[in-house]
Amino acid sequence: MRTPTELVGEFRARGLKVTPQRVAVFAALEGNDQHPSAEAVFAIVREEMPTISLRTVYQTLNDLAAMGEIGQLELGTGAARFDPNTGPHHHLVCDRCGLVRDVSVGAGEPTPPRSELAGFRVHQTEVVFRGRCAPCAAATD
Ligand SMILES: [Zn+2]
Ligand SMILES: [Zn+2]
Repeated sequence: MRTPTELVGEFRARGLKVTPQRVAVFAALEGNDQHPSAEAVFAIVREEMPTISLRTVYQTLNDLAAMGEIGQLELGTGAARFDPNTGPHHHLVCDRCGLVRDVSVGAGEPTPPRSELAGFRVHQTEVVFRGRCAPCAAATD
């Protein structure tokens, strides 16, 4: 994702509305590696800006995702998660608390056998490692 200042310019260039609420959403995402849901972004922004609506947060996230500035991930944690890191990477997902962390797989990228690809052209590979984060693994339930 570009910086909030650059995003303001990009939104204006595309004729999209730029409001202090939207800029606060950009700021909440900048450098955020928590893969927040829309509700989590809403909770962050509301601290500074109590008048913001969840609808505005959703609209801004949808606009950013449509522009390719953030990724929208469906990881089975109950809500879409948003990722300002658009570089190639994979995810660890805790099935107990919903924690999502970036991981790199590097040279070990999984590749299906050519015969199974049947001419399919892969342009992106996403690997999800599911399990429990350390605190959840130590929990007794
Ligand atoms: Zn966990
Ligand atoms: Zn990520």
